[in-house]
Amino acid sequence: MNPDLEKLLDLQEKDMTLLEVDQRLDEVLQEEQALDEAVVAAEASIGVAQRAVAEAVRRRIEVEGRVETYRKLQEGRRKRIEVSRPGKETSQLMAELDLARQVLAREESDWFRAQEAVQAQEARVADAEAQVEALIAEQVEPREALASRKTELEAERATALAARDESAEAVAKPLRSRYERLRGSRAPVAVVALTGDACGACYTAVPMNRRSQMRMSGMVDSCEGCGVMLYYLEVSTA
Ligand SMILES: [Zn+2]
Repeated sequence: MNPDLEKLLDLQEKDMTLLEVDQRLDEVLQEEQALDEAVVAAEASIGVAQRAVAEAVRRRIEVEGRVETYRKLQEGRRKRIEVSRPGKETSQLMAELDLARQVLAREESDWFRAQEAVQAQEARVADAEAQVEALIAEQVEPREALASRKTELEAERATALAARDESAEAVAKPLRSRYERLRGSRAPVAVVALTGDACGACYTAVPMNRRSQMRMSGMVDSCEGCGVMLYYLEVSTA
């Protein structure tokens, strides 16, 4: 095999190794992201429950205000009854007092309901907080495993990158820049062997004269169909 082509194929092989390490590293990062997202989602439910508490408290304060107002009015009526002369005025005040007592009782039971709602929502906040805490605790081990896998893969990546760069140095400049351009713009496989009389990547037929040129020179040519660098691969007859 032409030594230039051999070096080019060696570079491509190293690049595929690097790509494979990158994919595994990417999987680890995605797994970490999934753990983060689970925590964010659980924390969001704390926020929802907290807003419900705030709303329940606002409602309770509203009812408290009304209860207070009715109590003061009742207090006023009682005082007026104390100083009124028995008669028409007093009985009218007594009737008002009775009526208002029922209203007040309704408002007070409203207040108890509002108070129960606050407590229920507070319990939801506590539940949601406990769930987040449990989730974070559950994630400790998987996160440690991911972190150590990441460290390993990063070391593996550094080795693969160094090997790749070393191979790249050995490839002739014009060939190398052609290869890098192809890799940068399209599929990771830039150098492809002919398959029979066609491109091994897109199966576009390659004219015989170009095929025999590739075979004789041992050098690469571009595929007219997909643009990859094509080469002739000697089929072993052994
Ligand atoms: Zn092609």
